[in-house]
Amino acid sequence: MIDLSKSYLCLQCRICSAACTAATVNGLRPREVVLRLAAGDPTIEEGPEAWACVTCYACTEQCRAGIDITDIFYYLRERAAAQGRIPPPYRAVAKSVLATGCAFPNARYTARMRADLGLPVFCVAPRAVEELQTLCRSAGFPDLAPKEAS
Ligand code: SF4
Ligand code: SF4
Repeated sequence: MIDLSKSYLCLQCRICSAACTAATVNGLRPREVVLRLAAGDPTIEEGPEAWACVTCYACTEQCRAGIDITDIFYYLRERAAAQGRIPPPYRAVAKSVLATGCAFPNARYTARMRADLGLPVFCVAPRAVEELQTLCRSAGFPDLAPKEAS
């Protein structure tokens, strides 16, 4: 369980934003997210920030205030997902994982490359997929993934 009150400890030192892997790609600023959370900004749960994080934990490792910054992004995602606000690309990945055990479908060129290299056709073992589906079901994931925002 994440302790959101730790966001009050933020020193606004910006180290997390400087360390952020996603910052140069999509402009994510974890420092701002922590600040908005501490300020009780309700829009933080509806914005794109939650999905911009690649959960690399670089910010959390660097934070001198000991704030679990990456977990904040997980928290925001959970809140968004529970309300059906899952961006389509993430929804597609979730559906693919549930159905096949793979995040992405097998592309034809991948199959060709594997064949050229003498590798067998790739698929996740059916038993592994079943186990994954059992785990996902116990977490309520199948109900969540297809849910659309109302
Ligand atoms: S590294 Fe920690 S203390 Fe510094 S701005 Fe980021 S969250 Fe705040
Ligand atoms: S965990 Fe997210 S917010 Fe933190 S550095 Fe990585 S991408 Fe940036």
